[in-house]
Amino acid sequence: MKKYPIGALIIILFIIFFAAMSNSKNKEVNVGGEQLPHIIAHRGHWDTEGSAQNSRKALELAIAHGFYGCEFDVHLTKDNRVVVFHDHDIQGINIQTTDYADLKDLKLPNGETLPTLDEYLEIASKQKGTKLILEIKGHQGAERNREAAREVHKLVKQYGVEGITEYISFSMDVCKELIAMDDKHKVFFLHWDKDAPSPKELKAAGFYGLDYAWGAMKERPEWITEAREVGLKVNIWTVNDEADMRHFVEAGADFITTDAPELLKKVIDEKKKK
Ligand code: MG
Repeated sequence: MKKYPIGALIIILFIIFFAAMSNSKNKEVNVGGEQLPHIIAHRGHWDTEGSAQNSRKALELAIAHGFYGCEFDVHLTKDNRVVVFHDHDIQGINIQTTDYADLKDLKLPNGETLPTLDEYLEIASKQKGTKLILEIKGHQGAERNREAAREVHKLVKQYGVEGITEYISFSMDVCKELIAMDDKHKVFFLHWDKDAPSPKELKAAGFYGLDYAWGAMKERPEWITEAREVGLKVNIWTVNDEADMRHFVEAGADFITTDAPELLKKVIDEKKKK
């Protein structure tokens, strides 16, 4: 064996140690080496003092807690600004048919004004630990959906956050546009029932993963195995019940999206100790 001076050996050991530490930072791996699900905070970390769904605070808290991902929803306004909000209407006003100027002062339940995607990406660009699980909502007609995908992607690129962004959408037009732009985009198809496309079908269409409702995944447990076989990731939403969390941890989901990320963390930490 080649002999190294003791100083060099210490440096090599430090490098190996820190490489292992940084590699494990975003991976939930239990003592047996089994992969455990990553935690995605649904609409950010909102169910806590001073926060609100899809608020800037909810993103900041998801980052501060070190969750794997912060899920949030975006729409194009009539004049093509991208804003962060779940429903199609805010205080009775339809977002997609209204100019941004008429929306910008509307308040979220925690007192913040309606966030723009620019503001979200600015916050996210200052860190690398928490991924953006960016849901592009459906718009009126195929061309408007494709336009939404292009506008959102333009901003993601502009803020230099492509490496921490994963896209999700119920709109096949949105998803196909993102995949066509760059086949390295991580795009998950969202669906709510058991008649969703199978993992094999999604793989053939260039998807990175599926993001299906927990009820559908209980009816189609074989989809986790099928996704593994074809190399797709499995995200399951919105898992808020502790028993369901345990179920999908055992089932081998790659990601669990939840309104209760701290509870899910507790469930995963308990599993790690076993
Ligand atoms: Mg969503």
